[in-house]
Amino acid sequence: MDYGIRENLDSVEERIENACLSCGRKRADVKLIAVSKTKPLTALQEAYSCGCRDFGENKVQELVDKYEALPKDIRWHMIGHLQRNKVKYIVDKVYLIHSVDSLRLAEEIEKEAAKKGVTVNILAEVNVAGEESKFGTTVSEVTSLVEKIAGMPHIRLKGLMTVAPYVEDSEQNRRFFAKLNQIYVDIIHKNIDNVSMEELSMGMTGDYEVAITEGSTYVRIGTGIFGEREYKTI
Ligand SMILES: *Cc1c(COP(=O)(O)O)cnc(C)c1O
Repeated sequence: MDYGIRENLDSVEERIENACLSCGRKRADVKLIAVSKTKPLTALQEAYSCGCRDFGENKVQELVDKYEALPKDIRWHMIGHLQRNKVKYIVDKVYLIHSVDSLRLAEEIEKEAAKKGVTVNILAEVNVAGEESKFGTTVSEVTSLVEKIAGMPHIRLKGLMTVAPYVEDSEQNRRFFAKLNQIYVDIIHKNIDNVSMEELSMGMTGDYEVAITEGSTYVRIGTGIFGEREYKTI
């Protein structure tokens, strides 16, 4: 089976390089996550054979199943809303949890990570645009959430993440990416113990070039690599 992933990746790569060039950033400072949710193992294997090692999933069961089936040098990114009762299934399997949006969720991650003797890398998810339908802490609460998480010994807070609104013109999201970057810099300047802000996870298929010019270090691309998603109704 050939999903055409090589061609898609070549085009995404070229666009990432051009976005970096346009704002004077180094290509190496932007990491690409192949968002493989809903896609079959064969599609992930094709992406793997093209060199992809970072995969993003938004459902715990699907992440665990794919983790078991695929090579162990893959870095798994949990990018979807995470329920507290499912944290225990993934704390020792994920490379980075992008979607930590509450103190209660962070406390659960701390508890399960301590049980398994691991340290978990996380990002705090911020609902920058304040959309009703989206998860994430509010802009006004994020700093206090970061300060509370900073004291948790089995969690390493690495940065911030946002899911921008769905828009026709990606330029409309520039202000949200700029805002997240500003919050990120403000937190860095606070010099909070045990917080090493290094990552800004922002930008998807429709808006990753704008996100890169606003400082993104992780772009999360699904459709642009794997094609449209088909949600099965069984
Ligand atoms: C699905 C998803 C993506 C990828 O979306 P595309 O538009 O297909 O690139 C990125 N981030 C999150 C949080 C997602 O759920």
